[in-house]
Amino acid sequence: MYDVVIAGGGPTAMMLAGELRLHGVTVLVVEKEEAPPPNVRSLGLHVRSIEVMDQRGLLERFLENGRPHLLGGFFAAIPKPAPEGLDTAHGYVLGIPQPLTDRLLTEHAVAAGAEVRRGCAVTGLAQDDDGVTVELGDDTSVRGSWLVGCDGGRSTVRGLAGIAFPGEPSRVDTLLGEMRVTADPETVVAVVTEVRRRELRFGLGPVTGPGADGLYRVVVPAAGVTEDRTATPTIDDFRSRLTAYAGTDFGVHSPRWLSRFGDATRQAQHYRVGRVLLAGDAAHVHPPMGGQGLNLGIQDAFNLGWKLAATVAGWAPGGLLDTYETERHPVAAAVLDNTRAQLVLMTDEPGPRAVRRLLAEVMDFEEVNRYLVEKITAINVRYDLGDGHRLLGRRLRDVALEEGRLYERMRSGRGMLLDRTGRLSVAGWEDRVDHVVDPLVGMGDVPDGAAVLLRPDGHVAWVGEDQRDLTERMPAWFGAAA
Ligand SMILES: Cc1cc2nc3c(=O)[nH]c(=O)nc-3n(C[C@H](O)[C@H](O)[C@H](O)COP(=O)(O)OP(=O)(O)OC[C@H]3O[C@@H](n4cnc5c(N)ncnc54)[C@H](O)[C@@H]3O)c2cc1C
Repeated sequence: MYDVVIAGGGPTAMMLAGELRLHGVTVLVVEKEEAPPPNVRSLGLHVRSIEVMDQRGLLERFLENGRPHLLGGFFAAIPKPAPEGLDTAHGYVLGIPQPLTDRLLTEHAVAAGAEVRRGCAVTGLAQDDDGVTVELGDDTSVRGSWLVGCDGGRSTVRGLAGIAFPGEPSRVDTLLGEMRVTADPETVVAVVTEVRRRELRFGLGPVTGPGADGLYRVVVPAAGVTEDRTATPTIDDFRSRLTAYAGTDFGVHSPRWLSRFGDATRQAQHYRVGRVLLAGDAAHVHPPMGGQGLNLGIQDAFNLGWKLAATVAGWAPGGLLDTYETERHPVAAAVLDNTRAQLVLMTDEPGPRAVRRLLAEVMDFEEVNRYLVEKITAINVRYDLGDGHRLLGRRLRDVALEEGRLYERMRSGRGMLLDRTGRLSVAGWEDRVDHVVDPLVGMGDVPDGAAVLLRPDGHVAWVGEDQRDLTERMPAWFGAAA
């Protein structure tokens, strides 16, 4: 019997497995594919995910394998640089192809002790008061106290758990692949620049990284919406669509991989039914505008991991696990909405084009630009933890401490009282909450002489200076005192 069985072996699953292992939870990851796919969907990590990697000691590995790019131009591909002075130590986009992200997260989860079974699909489930029996494609079954469906947009777990997935079906398909071209680079740039004046879902650009020499990433609108969502397009499909848009097929040949994606926008009605939970694409799908889906899944896992671990360990306060859905459902709903808006702004109709021009003008107001950048990078996320200080429910940015940095010192996955008073105490919770006294630490507009209580995911659960107030607040997030 495992504490947690995770269906799917993508980035959400591996992030979650790593988080659970940090707390000693036994984890089995069951992935239906024998080998990871070569397809490059996500191209990078946004600010909040970069911070998350830093908070778990993974950022060095990501920086070694990725390349930082300037932030900006992400909302509906409107080319505006990000404003100065974003509230983060990591104001950049980390370009890193999804297979590398998936690999680094898998290595981390396995090194932390997660068991991974590949080539084995989840096909059935039955839950009772004590756990979930999970049936597998090889006619065996495993049992976990909990099952988390991280099995992507067509989630089997979601279907088996009877969780509705309302929203809009795909109305526009796009072809995406990596292949070689015979056209010379100057011609490619000139033709692509011309076509992109009318069609923003069109692109051919050189792939970078090891083994990518001479490869181009090609994006072009498909002829229609395909019923069979698993069908792979052919190189001839690419040739005919490129010719339709550009008057040339650029001599595309020798594809490394070919794929198709749609603009279906849907969200699971619930993220939890009994002992079954959903995270990542299994809980929400939306078009890739702004590059947010993988980031959203990683952040779901970061929110869920410590809560599920606390539940397994037995110290979770009542209702803690339910805050996963109450906190993360609205965050994904907002992402779905911003991708709907971006998609409209990227169409070739005169009305949306006019709105796009107007928005581009309005983005010259720094506050507007900042608002959109904070939205896409997810550093604006604020969980509703009630009234109080402006920081309540928000993540605290990394700050320098007398000894080391805040994010370095959060790698244990425990909560933290970051204390400027020097007279507060976490007695009774020392096994779950670290106490760092630093009279000079800078924490934005937190008053001098106050302290901040951080959850294991770095979100602020309390701001104050009064011990009784703190002691009353602790159980809501960290359970009863020992
Ligand atoms: C063209 C495109 C570009 C994108 N670009 C970006 C971007 O730039 N930035 C970004 O943040 N996001 C981007 N995304 C979104 C991102 O790829 C997804 O949001 C992300 O992969 C979701 O991760 P996941 O782990 O939740 O699901 P997935 O990556 O889909 O992983 C699910 C896994 O579950 C497995 N599985 C399925 N069924 C079963 C079963 N029954 N049993 C066991 N295993 C099963 C699958 O084989 C798969 O490995 C893009 C998506 C597309 C299509």
